[in-house]
This record gives sequence, structure tokens and C-alpha cells, in this order.
Amino acid sequence: MAQNEKVLVVDFGGQYNQLIARRVRECNVYCEIISYRAGLDAIRAANPVGIILTGGPNSVYLEDAPTMDPALFELGIPVLGICYGSQLMSHLLGGHVCRAPEREYGKTLVHTSEESPIFQNVSRDTICWMSHNDYIETPAPGFTITAYTDNCPVAAAENREKNLYAVQFHPEVLHTQEGKQMLHNFVYNVCGCKGDWKMDSFVERSIVALREKIGGGKVLCALSGGVDSSVAAAMLSKAVGSQLTCVFVDHGLLRKNEMEQVCEIFGGGEFEMNFICVDARQRYYDKLAGVEEPEKKRKIIGEEFIRIFEEEAKKIGRVDFLVQGTIYPDVVESGLGGESTVIKSHHNVGGLPDYVDFKEIVEPLRDLFKDEVRQAGRELGLPEYLVSRQPFPGPGLAVRIIGEVTPEKVAMVQDADAIWREEVAKAGLEGQLSQYFAALTNMRSVGVMGDERTYDYAIALRAVTTVDFMTAESAEIPWPVLQTVTSRIVNEVKHVNRVLYDCTGKPPATIEFE
Ligand code: GLN
Repeated sequence: MAQNEKVLVVDFGGQYNQLIARRVRECNVYCEIISYRAGLDAIRAANPVGIILTGGPNSVYLEDAPTMDPALFELGIPVLGICYGSQLMSHLLGGHVCRAPEREYGKTLVHTSEESPIFQNVSRDTICWMSHNDYIETPAPGFTITAYTDNCPVAAAENREKNLYAVQFHPEVLHTQEGKQMLHNFVYNVCGCKGDWKMDSFVERSIVALREKIGGGKVLCALSGGVDSSVAAAMLSKAVGSQLTCVFVDHGLLRKNEMEQVCEIFGGGEFEMNFICVDARQRYYDKLAGVEEPEKKRKIIGEEFIRIFEEEAKKIGRVDFLVQGTIYPDVVESGLGGESTVIKSHHNVGGLPDYVDFKEIVEPLRDLFKDEVRQAGRELGLPEYLVSRQPFPGPGLAVRIIGEVTPEKVAMVQDADAIWREEVAKAGLEGQLSQYFAALTNMRSVGVMGDERTYDYAIALRAVTTVDFMTAESAEIPWPVLQTVTSRIVNEVKHVNRVLYDCTGKPPATIEFE
């Protein structure tokens, strides 16, 4: 495959490192994250056109702080240091970094110099996001100061001759109002990128590469109906057509109409493949009957899925390749890419393989961020409602029904959720919310309807905004929208007589209920 021009993000453990890579890619430049531990040789071998050193929790002047071979700055490759990265660059090149008399945190007014290539088409006074305790007191020899704040004498510095740039603030977070322009300036004006990372050509090249790799082999894909596995399936279908078999398990815990939608898209003939929809609803309801404990529910659902998939795989016989919808954040979070400690061993990375007999795993989306996966899905002709679908947990609605799962309760949640989604769309709120859904509390309470006493369930509505799903805020939904949804749900969904709105953020709550 032809190589894209690549920018390398060297990870020192900062919170926003995936964001840096995403922003660079939004500039149509391919970008990868690598741990600082990988060392200079790995960086050189990656052959990047530019290097970005990230933020991080440590202090550069302390012993054992993450560091870098200073030869990095002699490679002739442009380097941008962000926060910790800027401090490290200064420290290693002979500047002075120390504890700042005043720490800076939050939106801060930064005065920029018109001379700097980083600040072209950026306002002279611009709001940036700061988050640091240390600062660069004196920049390294050969550097000029190109930005300052009231509390920070060196908010940016550069050695233009050597193409080394340091910024104390975080251009990657949206609170830095002109941050995207600054990163754009770095990759285009400093690194000289042309911008060859585009989803249409990525999709085209991937299809060709997959065809080459798979040859005449058989491919098996577990389709969940979620964005990642759907896009992977569509791509494989374009690459190898009927050599691909997709298995979709309806566990009876899907959103309303989801099974029909998935069957229509993938079983409808537009995508060439063998499509198997397994109706396992009753099987699941039987297994889940009487089970109330969340972890136990999850376990049953996961195990049953594996069993069904295995049964179907056996019918197909030997497969050569197993498709997984692994995406780039899964790779980074599994500790394979960047520096962030293992947050969770992701179900996609190292999940299925142990029970299916196959030769190799193919992960066609391994290099993509979520927004890019959606974009690739659009390029492949998947409908918008599918590619813009919200994240949905593997155990499905079972984690949105507190306590025992029954077919009746599933129907209640499905209907309430469909109404909630419909009204959010009508109010034009979709774009502002990261995730929103209805859950069935296990609480029954007294109500009155048509002069009669009722004793029915309460539905909880949830809507959150978040950048990274690690933390989240409960969204401020306009009152009239909540009123409309409430009245529709109590009228249209049987056995619901109360609707509650969840005002809790994450932490202390989680986004899902179980
Ligand atoms: N730990 C360093 C400081 O406090 C860098 C912080 C950061 O990179 N966000 O200044």
C-alpha cells in the first residue's frame, strides 16, 4: 500500500493525546500515537514528516520523569511540543523549567506573535486551554518567545531554523478556540504536508489490500448492528463478496426495529455476502429468566453469544479469516499504541479467537477513529441512521432494564426509547447529545389514569454530553421536550405511569444503568 504522509504523536501520558491525533487527521494528515518508551529508533523507523510531543502528568526536572533522547531534535524532522512536551523540549535543549509561581488551569487569554508560523491566521489575543503547574522560565538557547499570558512568560517559543516549536497550552482541546488552526499551521506550514489522508481513498485502498490478502479464502464476521462491525462488514463485502459470511444474532435485546434494519441492509442484496440472522430471542429470555444481578446477566449474554456464533461457524466449516471491528482507540486503550495505562481489555482486541478455528484475524478499521469509521461507512454506501448510530452496549437492553429481563420489559424499553429518540430528533438536539436512551427502572409506583388507580413502572430518560466517554455531563434538555416525551410515553407505552430524567453526571454515575 502506498504510504500516507504521517505525523507521529509521542505519548507522555497526557489526557488528551487521542484528541491530538484526531485533530491532525481532521486536517487530512494521517497521524499515529506511539509511546515515548518506544524510543528514538522506533520514531525514526516510522519515518514521520512531523512529531508532536504530548502533555503528561510528570515534571521534567524530576528524576525518573519520562524523557527522550535529545537526538530527536537533530533528526531534521519538525517537532511541536505541547505542555509537558514543550517543557521537555526546553529542558533537554538547555532552557529552564520549574514550578510556576501561579499554576494556570482553564481558559486563558494568550497574546501571540504574528511572526510565528504556528500563529498565522490566528488572532493576536486568543483563548487557549491551560493545565499546568510547571512552566518554562527561560526558553532554550536559540529559541524566541512567541506567546505569553499574564502568568506565563513563555506560553509559546520556537527555534524556526531547526523547526522546533513549543506551546504551553493545549491546541487539541476545543476550549482552545483557534487550536485547530494552529495544528493546521504546524502540519501544513511547518511540516509541509499536502493532506493526503481522506476517507474515500482510504476505503478504496483498503478494499484492494483486503482482496490481495484474502485471496480465495473464506471470511467470517460477527455483525452486531453497531457502527464498527457494520462498516467492517460492508468493506469486506466490497472486497470479497460471497466469500464473506456475516452472522447476526438477535438476542432479543436490540433497540426497536434494529433487527429488521440490519437484515434489510445486509440481507437485502445490496451488499454481496452470505448473511445469517439467528433468531435467538427465546433462547436468551429463557436463560435470563429470574436473573437480577447485573454482572450475571452480562455473563450469560456473552457466553450465549459465543455459543451461538460457534454453532453457526461450525455449519460454515473452516474459515480462513475472522473479521473484527477493532478501531484505533481500542488499540490505544489496550496499551498497544500509546502510553495510557490499560483502561480495559477491549472485547474486540483478543476476544473471539479462542473458539473459532481460523487462520488469521482481519481488522480493517484498526487505524481509524470513530468519526473516521462513520465517514468510511458513508463512503461505502451505508445509510445515515446506521453510520451515525450511538454507541450501544453488547448486552443490549439488558443493562437498561434494572433487575430481571422479560420480553414484556424489553418491549417497554424499546417503545419508550424509540419515542425519546424520535422527539430528540424532532427537537433537533441529536447533534448536541453524545448519547441518549431510555431505561426501565425496577420501581413500580402508584398513579392514576382515567380515574383508576395504576401500579406501574417508571421509565428513566438519560441524555449526556461527553468528549471521550470517560466523564460525562447530564444534558440540559429543554423542558417542553421532556414534557412531550413524558406525555407520549405514559400514553403510548403500557404499564408505564411515571417518567424520570437522570440528572447525574459521570462520575459518580455511569452512563449506562448497569
Ligand atoms: N505536569 C506538567 C505541568 O504540571 C505538564 C502538564 C501537562 O502536560 N498538562 O506543568
